[in-house]
Amino acid sequence: MKIFEKIAEFGHEQVVLCHDPSAGYRGIIAIHSTALGPAVGGTRFWNYSSDSDALTDALRLSRGMTYKNAVARLNVGGGKAVIIGDNRRADREPLFRAHGRFIESLGGRFATGEDVGTSPADMEFILKETQHVAGLQGKSGDPSPHTARGVFRAMQAAAKFQWGSESLRGKTVAIQGCGHVGYCLAKELHHAGAKLIATDMDRGRVDRVVREFDATPAAPEKIYSAAADIFAPCALGGILNDQTISLLTAKLVVGAANNQLLAPEHGDLLQQRGILYAPDYAANAGGVIHGTSIEMLGWDASQAAKKVDAIYDTLLKIFEIASREKIATSRAADRLAEEKLAKAAGR
Ligand code: NAD
Repeated sequence: MKIFEKIAEFGHEQVVLCHDPSAGYRGIIAIHSTALGPAVGGTRFWNYSSDSDALTDALRLSRGMTYKNAVARLNVGGGKAVIIGDNRRADREPLFRAHGRFIESLGGRFATGEDVGTSPADMEFILKETQHVAGLQGKSGDPSPHTARGVFRAMQAAAKFQWGSESLRGKTVAIQGCGHVGYCLAKELHHAGAKLIATDMDRGRVDRVVREFDATPAAPEKIYSAAADIFAPCALGGILNDQTISLLTAKLVVGAANNQLLAPEHGDLLQQRGILYAPDYAANAGGVIHGTSIEMLGWDASQAAKKVDAIYDTLLKIFEIASREKIATSRAADRLAEEKLAKAAGR
């Protein structure tokens, strides 16, 4: 892989390859942009099939964080870290302390939190080596309920824009993935009077949502074509593509998963099909907004909650730009982020 070409293509400021053999640690910290403030982004722990896959993921995710943080109007930049290995590993302290030491060496240019494969307990190990970590037990904690709340607010905004009312009462929502965020989202939706269809690869997780929130279970491959008003992807990336978009019956797509569009053109395809798409990084910013507000900006819980709820206004703004400019909502969100970054850079 031509690393500098790749970094130039993505527009990164700095990429750090980290190695501590005594801790069995190999990691990559990618700082995409500090134009708006220190780079903030989670640490993903994943068994990548190659180093090149790990680097590509770190580059892609960190650039996504720059856009997410800019659109969320947080005065922080974008970064991401990946740790390469089996995330079920038991002896976690040496690994995460090694990661913490590399974060500390960056002198505050990068701060992290949890992501796929990591937990608040892992963040406590990082804290033993650096202050530049959020998502701690007893502080902002698990970001998932806040992410779910933000997705719920994004869904209300999409309903308002598409149907003239933000109420989700009586609407059917098909949820793909009943993990941390999907479960909390199902709870919010159930309380708001929505009907649920739920799927997961893990049958136990579906059963819980069926039992607690009266959801109808669906097989994973059937979720796209399920008769629903709203499709909520809360599992994997790349799930909006040529095959799946043609199956959708829903008129809104609003979910937590990162990188939902397989390619930028799939945002255009959704627009052509009259499906209103809430750009993933705008809709799923609740966790980072909450963690950053409390642990980096020193806000209290109610101020942080208000900022998460303001995702509603951000989404309406994106939908209005898209409608006015006759472009896909995904492109409207990118434009909003790029304008903010250009302004910060004095361009
Ligand atoms: P999670 O691992 O707790 O849940 C994901 C669930 O999806 C799991 O239950 C898994 O079994 C299921 N799944 C995987 N493949 C599937 C498939 N093909 N069909 C159906 N279900 C499938 O993860 P999470 O924390 O709930 O995050 C969900 C998504 O949201 C991820 O893409 C994550 O990157 C993104 N996200 C999460 C947060 C957060 O605060 N946790 C914040 C922003 C974005």
